[in-house]
Amino acid sequence: MSNKNGFQCSRCEQYHDELPLAYGPEAPAIYFSIPAEEVSERTMLSPDLCVIDQEHFFLCGNLELPIIDSDQLFSWDVWVSVSKENFKKTLDQWENPERDQQPPMFGLIATTLPTYPDSQNLKANIHPRAVGRKPFIELEPTDHPLAVEQREGIPLTRVQEIAELILHGGD
Ligand SMILES: [Zn+2]
Repeated sequence: MSNKNGFQCSRCEQYHDELPLAYGPEAPAIYFSIPAEEVSERTMLSPDLCVIDQEHFFLCGNLELPIIDSDQLFSWDVWVSVSKENFKKTLDQWENPERDQQPPMFGLIATTLPTYPDSQNLKANIHPRAVGRKPFIELEPTDHPLAVEQREGIPLTRVQEIAELILHGGD
């Protein structure tokens, strides 16, 4: 998903044709600390689910931030750590056409994101959505900048700032 319009980049002074509206790592942060030769034995990873050592369970969800003066959303696609019981419940409901009627479940953010203080272990509610969609991740309303942005929304200029950072690095 991306904004139809590109943007004039303040970092490289080029016009980028696309302004992406979603980013996220392929796996929870802890996954990247596992030695390469142990990954296949110790982990299971799909675009939606991850299990490590049969004792750490993760779901991938959309931590959406409303874009101010727009009907669009920006999404950080984050991993959230859940209990074994809730992971199992999620699998049991996977193909249920009414799974979006399920109550939210508790989780802890397991992803670090650029431009923010550490976001790992922030508390969140995971709201299941229709089959084929990642759950909506609702952060506990704290003073963490990510939680503030989810409550108050972000201007399009902030979306561009994030795009420039991800394209060109730095902080
Ligand atoms: Zn650029």
